[in-house]
Amino acid sequence: MISYISTRNKNESVPAHAAVIRGLSRDGGLYTPETITAKINPDDLLNCSYQETAAKIIGAMLDDYTEEEILSCVKGAYDEKFDTDLIVPLTKISDGWLMDLWHGPTSAFKDIALTILPRLLTAAYKKENRSDIISILTATSGDTGKAALSGFADVPNTAITVFYPEIGVSAVQKRQMQTSEGNNVEVIAVRGNFDDCQRMVKEAVSSDEVNEALHNVTISSANSINIGRLVPQIVYYYNAYITLVSEGAVKCGDPVNFVVPTGNFGDILAGYMAKCLGLPVGKLICASNTNNVLTDFLKTGTYSLDRTFHTTMSPSMDILISSNLERLLFMLSGNDDKAVSKMMQDLKDKGSYTVSPSLHEKILETFCGYWSSEEDCAKTIHDLWQNEKILIDPHTSVALHAMRAYREETGDQTPAVVLSTASPYKFCRDVLKCISGNAPEDDFDAMDQLFEETGVKVPENLRTLREKKIRFSRVIDIDEGMHVIAERMRELGNA
Ligand SMILES: *Cc1c(COP(=O)(O)O)cnc(C)c1O
Repeated sequence: MISYISTRNKNESVPAHAAVIRGLSRDGGLYTPETITAKINPDDLLNCSYQETAAKIIGAMLDDYTEEEILSCVKGAYDEKFDTDLIVPLTKISDGWLMDLWHGPTSAFKDIALTILPRLLTAAYKKENRSDIISILTATSGDTGKAALSGFADVPNTAITVFYPEIGVSAVQKRQMQTSEGNNVEVIAVRGNFDDCQRMVKEAVSSDEVNEALHNVTISSANSINIGRLVPQIVYYYNAYITLVSEGAVKCGDPVNFVVPTGNFGDILAGYMAKCLGLPVGKLICASNTNNVLTDFLKTGTYSLDRTFHTTMSPSMDILISSNLERLLFMLSGNDDKAVSKMMQDLKDKGSYTVSPSLHEKILETFCGYWSSEEDCAKTIHDLWQNEKILIDPHTSVALHAMRAYREETGDQTPAVVLSTASPYKFCRDVLKCISGNAPEDDFDAMDQLFEETGVKVPENLRTLREKKIRFSRVIDIDEGMHVIAERMRELGNA
């Protein structure tokens, strides 16, 4: 059985289901598989549906769940909530493929993991015969929030609180969260950025004030610091690969490169885990916007926060502290918890850390980084629409630009799949501006106009958003965080 161990103390070791319940280890580390010894050959999955592939892969990684438990979670998650039977279809473009990850209930790639996480969590709770309430604390740069709110709405024995930056998320994203339904949900805006929200959620786990308020309540997380978020994301790398093989575009066993628009490093780390499981992943190309901390890190081996934070039209990547990188450092350093703890301490104390030359070299065997300016991003959206009549969102555009920059620089013509992470309608004002030069002030007018100009279908959940009632409009300061969370914990315990 796989042990999940903390990146900051490898003696802290739990089975999969317990890691899903806890989210973050008490020492601040992230639960990471001690080793990945299972091998899954894509050859054996060639005729599998998305659901069948999901059951195999999630079952292999979360190996203390029974087959029935995994099957029931998979079936409950990947059903008509998605507007295509394929769940994650591929779109051919002239120089590669887009992996369309946004056909779920909130039109963001986060749906892939957040439709199944509540089910994995509930199953884990049953295993332990527990009845206390799981309080999910979630920080969001825009998309996670709504996907988590949708996934956890009215799930028995759970409650969810989402913190989002007051400034930075798109108007559509904000409206999606503010209109959330369900009796166990709460949405709070924070006068700060995503990193502030994420820090708040991480701090709550070890805060005395919060812990004293916990009676019959356990805190967990729906952020990609939870391993139950990452594992379901491995599936679509396999699914894309076997789709390409069945279409005859790739010979089974030959490498495919994946280009990933990256923020918290969760999505791309899932690609690395796919590689560990035996998928022939060539390069993982880490695409960033002007918050290009990861591009610099991959180039130099130094991760430095000494930089300006930018808000961009790809807000889900407006992140300077990329949490899941910690897991990669741990895995590639041979589970060196001491070294990882030191680096994370340096990041906290000095705002930077540097990896050893040998670790840097290991990282570069699989990863490389490219970034796009706002102009590059806009032009890529414009040109793809102009030339191929395919409409993409700004995150996807950042990645497509990175794919082309990578090819130009290296000459590597390996087939490449670009992860398309959101519907363009989530960012309709910016997308409309990119293709037609200007856009109305109001996002929902822009949505209508984008549809009129392109004829690309608006996802149902976004089309009906304008009419929904706003339920949540609370805004707090960063330093109120622990107090607000403690208050909520007392409320849940008394309920
Ligand atoms: C979350 C998100 C990303 C970044 O994914 P990470 O796992 O945080 O690296 C990219 N694009 C969109 C649209 C997202 O919502």
